[in-house]
Amino acid sequence: MLVDRFDRLISYLRISVTDRCNFRCVYCMPAEGIDVSPRQEILSFEEIARVASVGAELGLRKIRLTGGEPTVRRDLPTLVAMLSSIKGIEEIAMTTNAALMTDLAAPLKRAGMSRLNISLDTLNREKAARIARRDEWERVQSGIEASYREGFGLKFNAVIMRGWNDGELGDLLEYAHSFGAPMRFIEWMPMGLTGQTDRNQTVPWREMLESLQGRFDLVQESGVSADPAKMWRCQKTGARVGFISSMSDHFCSTCNRMRLTAQGGLRPCLHQDAEVDVRSLLRSGASDAELIDAFREAAGLKWAGHRMNDIIPLYSSKDMVAIGG
Ligand code: SF4
Repeated sequence: MLVDRFDRLISYLRISVTDRCNFRCVYCMPAEGIDVSPRQEILSFEEIARVASVGAELGLRKIRLTGGEPTVRRDLPTLVAMLSSIKGIEEIAMTTNAALMTDLAAPLKRAGMSRLNISLDTLNREKAARIARRDEWERVQSGIEASYREGFGLKFNAVIMRGWNDGELGDLLEYAHSFGAPMRFIEWMPMGLTGQTDRNQTVPWREMLESLQGRFDLVQESGVSADPAKMWRCQKTGARVGFISSMSDHFCSTCNRMRLTAQGGLRPCLHQDAEVDVRSLLRSGASDAELIDAFREAAGLKWAGHRMNDIIPLYSSKDMVAIGG
């Protein structure tokens, strides 16, 4: 088992398969993008699968593929098939902007992927183009439809930014419900150098809940889980909404996550600038025991929680796109 200094069981590995993306979302990266890594610095499928299989020996059960945008990595279904064959891995999910899912939904499903979190920040085409700094409206809609038709377990995620999309909560909730999926609202988080300036963009989850209560009679769902979202349900329609409140009410005490960056860094926390380099280990013929040590070292580095609300706040120096959320 992989347990950190605070007795949290780490059972969920978020794997970034690329630092490239076909969008330029304002809350994720600078308009000019980031300096992406040369191909040889990115882990191969075989290297990713090796780290995941060692992780499975340590009790990792769930894998989520992230990026950048994971679907821009060529032959992604091949990687999914490799990960699906690892003994102990129970679920393979992915977070995507859905723009490439029209062609990828069926092969990814066949390869063993079961769940998708689809990033959808607005139902307004013009605003979507301003947020993503790209106009991919039709491809996103078509990708969502294809993912739904393939029978993926769906969740929709929106990063809520004050003055941008905080007026669309109810419409987004109804949209997600039309696919039988929960809508999850993520509090904006300062990431990287660009993000540290305007914390006023964060809309606290209680404020979001209050603004929805006028239209939906929401009740909180019971039960504690490692899922970061606080889940509520509309008694009338059954629509489900989740709030991911990293800034105003974090959930670090039940965190079960570890991250693997595209360059091969085992990162214990999204907002902590600490990584254990496994790429050098992999490329210098390390044994499984040495990789297990690397996992344990990363878990040992993990903070009790993020420190973005400390008197002297500490933020990730990396942008979200370079870690994968
Ligand atoms: S901020 Fe770090 S410790 Fe907290 S939930 Fe996120 S990854 Fe876990």
